[in-house]
Amino acid sequence: MVLFDITLNDLFLLIGQLVIVFILFVIIVSGIASALIIYSFRTGHFLFPNFMLSIIIMLEGVVKAIFRLMQMDDSIVDHIAIQLKNRISARRFSDIPPDKQIIFFPQCLRAIDCPSKLSPEGIQCTNCGQCEIGDAKTKAEKAGYRVFIVPGSSFIKRMVMKYRPEGIIGVGCRFEVKSGLDMCSNIGVVGIGIELEKAGCVATELEWAEFYRVIDAKE
Ligand code: SF4
Repeated sequence: MVLFDITLNDLFLLIGQLVIVFILFVIIVSGIASALIIYSFRTGHFLFPNFMLSIIIMLEGVVKAIFRLMQMDDSIVDHIAIQLKNRISARRFSDIPPDKQIIFFPQCLRAIDCPSKLSPEGIQCTNCGQCEIGDAKTKAEKAGYRVFIVPGSSFIKRMVMKYRPEGIIGVGCRFEVKSGLDMCSNIGVVGIGIELEKAGCVATELEWAEFYRVIDAKE
């Protein structure tokens, strides 16, 4: 009986030690990843990208908690995850012809006085010239892309189900782009995300040069 108690105690002690080692391992690995994320964000150089992305995917909550602990904006983690996923997808993306791709613009990117009307295929731009979407849509459609202005969150899934694209270019705020890239991974579609330069509900802004860089890479 004494022998059994000792063995049981030893077992609990071992489990306790293993849990502590595991927690320390998670904290250290997340700390290293956080340092790499901050470095990447500040310099634009991505060191050990696969390591960073794996840790963000597996330990996103811990990494973001470290950012909050340091009183830093934890959405930086999402920003770097988007950049890393874009890099990883870039080669596969360049092999997909434009006519097998869909571009989604958010409706908040339109001018405040946008005269477009809502249709079952999204918001129909009349290329009135008040915002850049008109020209960008024309150019992208000329290259073969299917382009939509998204009126609401369920619209994207509906269009993806309908047109079954092999690739998606999604423009949106950081949160939307991150969710969109997650959706692309889940359904096996190559996704490229472009974050808005200024997010919000209306009159948002996009660094259009970046958008044209992405679609010009196909020409
Ligand atoms: S260019 Fe198109 S999206 Fe932009 S404001 Fe005019 S109609 Fe609306």
